[in-house]
Amino acid sequence: MNATTIRTLFFAFLLLETCYELYLTLLNIRHVRQHAKEVPPLFQKAIDEDTYRKAVSYTIDKNRFALVYQLLSTGFVILLLTSGLLGILDQWVQSTGWHLYLQGILFVLLLSLLLRIVSLPLSLYQQFVLEERYGFNRMTGKLFLSDLGKGLVVQLILMTPLLLGLFWFMDEAGRYWWIWAFLFVTLFQLVVTLLYPLVIAPLFNKFTPLPEGSLKEKVLALAEKLGFRTRGIYMMDGSKRSRHSNAYFTGLGKVKRIVLFDTLTQSLSEEETCAVLAHELGHEKQKHILKMFFLSSVFLFLGFLIVDSLLLYEPLYRAFSFGRPSYHGILTIISLCAGPFTFFLNPLINGLSRRFEYQADRFAAEQAGLGEALASALLTLGKENLTNLTPHPWYSFYHYAHPTLGERLDALRKLG
Ligand SMILES: [Zn+2]
Repeated sequence: MNATTIRTLFFAFLLLETCYELYLTLLNIRHVRQHAKEVPPLFQKAIDEDTYRKAVSYTIDKNRFALVYQLLSTGFVILLLTSGLLGILDQWVQSTGWHLYLQGILFVLLLSLLLRIVSLPLSLYQQFVLEERYGFNRMTGKLFLSDLGKGLVVQLILMTPLLLGLFWFMDEAGRYWWIWAFLFVTLFQLVVTLLYPLVIAPLFNKFTPLPEGSLKEKVLALAEKLGFRTRGIYMMDGSKRSRHSNAYFTGLGKVKRIVLFDTLTQSLSEEETCAVLAHELGHEKQKHILKMFFLSSVFLFLGFLIVDSLLLYEPLYRAFSFGRPSYHGILTIISLCAGPFTFFLNPLINGLSRRFEYQADRFAAEQAGLGEALASALLTLGKENLTNLTPHPWYSFYHYAHPTLGERLDALRKLG
C-alpha cells in the first residue's frame, strides 16, 4: 500500500464512524421527540410531567451538542492530516536538536495541548451554557481554570515517565520490545490506579470519611453483612462542580474505597444510599473492575502487536505527513486510528459493562435485600439527573455502559 491508499482508507473509516454516530444521534433525537407527549407508563407514578418535559429537552440539547462536537472533531482531524500539521510539528521538534526521547515527549505534549485548546470552546459551552441552562452547573470560571491547569500538570507528570519508558523499551529491548512495553504500561496503570485515590483525586476534590451518625451505622452494618472489610467509604464534594450525582469504586488492594458524591446523599434516603452502596459492593465482589482491566489489557496487547508490525513501515508515516519514522510518530498514528478502526467494538464492550450492571443490581437485591430501595434510588437519581427515559434501542445498544433506567427497573422488578 502506498501513502495515498492508507490515507484514503483512514478517511473512509473516519467518515464511516462519523456518519454512523451522527445517524444514531439523529435517530435518538427523533425517538425522544416521538415519545415526548406523555410520561412513559413505567414512570408515570414517579415522574411528573414537568420534570419529564425538562428531561426531554435536556436530552435533545445534549444530543444536538454531540452532533456539533462530532462534526467539528472529525473536521479537525481531517484538517490536521490534510494541512500537514503533524509533519510541521515533527520537523519543529526535530529542529530543537534535543535527544530523540525528549523530542518525542515534546511532540506528544504539544499535540495534546493543541487538542485541549481546540476543544476548549466546546467544553466551556457544555459547562457554562448547556449544563447551566438546566441548573446542573455549579462550577465557577475560576474553578474551571484551576481544573484545567491541574489537569495539564498531572498529564505532564504522568506522561513524561510513561513515554520515556516506552521509548526506552522500543529502543533497547530487542525483537520482543513490545511485550516488555506492554508489561511496563500495565504495571504503570496499576501504579496509577493505586495512587489515584491517594494523590490525584484529592487535587480536585475533598474526600471526607463518612461522618458519624445513623447513615454510617447502616453502612457499616451493610458492609459487615456482605463481608466487605474496608472502612474506606468516603464522601466527595461533587457539588462544587455539578448537581449531577454519582457513586464509584476506586483504588486497589488496601486503598480500595467507595466514593459517594455529596449530591447523592443529599437526594437519597439512608436506605437508598445503602442500596447504591450495595450495588457498588456487588461490582467489587464479582470482580468486575478486574475483569474490565483484563479485557482492556487484551486490547492493549493487540495494540502493541500492531505498533510493532508497523513501526518501520514508511508509507504509513508519509500518509500522516510525518517525514520520518519515529516512536512518537507511530504512537500518534495508532491513537488517531484507534477510534475509526475499532468503533464497531463499542457495543461489545458496553454490552459486557451492562451485563455487569445487571449483576451488581442483582447482588444488591439478593445479597443485601435492597432491591426495592435500589429501584427507588434509581428512579430518584434518574429524575434528578434528567435521564433520557426513552433512548432509541440502537442508540443505547451502541453508547450505553449502563442499561437504560427502564431496563434496570424491569430487571429489579422481576427479581422481587
Ligand atoms: Zn454499577
